[in-house]
Amino acid sequence: MRCPFCSFTQDKVIDSRESKDADSIRRRRECERCNKRFTTYERLDEIPYMVVKKDGRREKFDRQKVLSGLLHSCQKRNVSVTQMQEIVDAAESFVVDSPERERSTAAVGELIMGRLKDIDTVAYIRFASVYRDFKDVREFKQELEDLLGGREIKPKRPMAR
Ligand SMILES: [Zn+2]
Repeated sequence: MRCPFCSFTQDKVIDSRESKDADSIRRRRECERCNKRFTTYERLDEIPYMVVKKDGRREKFDRQKVLSGLLHSCQKRNVSVTQMQEIVDAAESFVVDSPERERSTAAVGELIMGRLKDIDTVAYIRFASVYRDFKDVREFKQELEDLLGGREIKPKRPMAR
């Protein structure tokens, strides 16, 4: 989107919501050069932001779906809805910023996990365990051990990386 104030073309989406009749999306944007905020309205059927699944299938990026996953992972954890909303916004900006108008679900998932990791370890582990592929289980277990190891007695292991 072109900034109406300074014509710069890079901005970040700070809030998105569907209109009442659900046929358009209102986005609050912030220009990355002048930091002024502006609003855009986009018709839903004109927004081809997609996520590409592991098997190559594409589907529309769905904020609600991301939020549902987060709500599930953050159940009874100390993560506020605002924090979750921020993660959803970050995920959406990431997809919207793609020059190809699509991102792999793996890349989106990594971004979400990166954010979640900084906020709440348990929520992160829940999200990652649902999200990650079975073939990554060993890698995930390693990660889990690293996380737990940081808190409890550090097991002696050679440097893995
Ligand atoms: Zn600007």
